[in-house]
Amino acid sequence: MWITFLSACGTSENLAVGEQKEVGFDIREMTASAHALPSFLMNAHEDIANVYAMTVHEEDLLEHIPCYCGCGESARHRNVFDCFVHQKNDDGTVIWDNHGMKCGVCLDIAVESIGLKEQGASPSEIREAIDEKYKEGYATPTKTPVPETT
Ligand SMILES: [Zn+2]
Repeated sequence: MWITFLSACGTSENLAVGEQKEVGFDIREMTASAHALPSFLMNAHEDIANVYAMTVHEEDLLEHIPCYCGCGESARHRNVFDCFVHQKNDDGTVIWDNHGMKCGVCLDIAVESIGLKEQGASPSEIREAIDEKYKEGYATPTKTPVPETT
């Protein structure tokens, strides 16, 4: 059996600020910073743009939250953060992904997770709540490591 190493793990994403690239059914776009939203959101509903504006700052939480939309298989996402942000770079640039704006499941999981965090839930509690809510009737979740409990 072939084991495919994901390009997402490498640094070979040769985009420039403002540039877009189609990846499968999705579009990735690089902007100068986490405060500069990608142009693919320009015609999106304000609520959706707000979800992107929040998720980009919640990598620590969302990289431990699986997505149940099927994107683990269809787009090789590792967690629900990947549905919105492909990569945050050391120089501050961000490569966004338009997958999440087209997907009610991704949007719901991100909003619910951040909402629970704002109510004071720990990453483990949020992970449990999402797994419990989506375990039936949704696609296979992304293979996402559980949060470390400290
Ligand atoms: Zn997803």
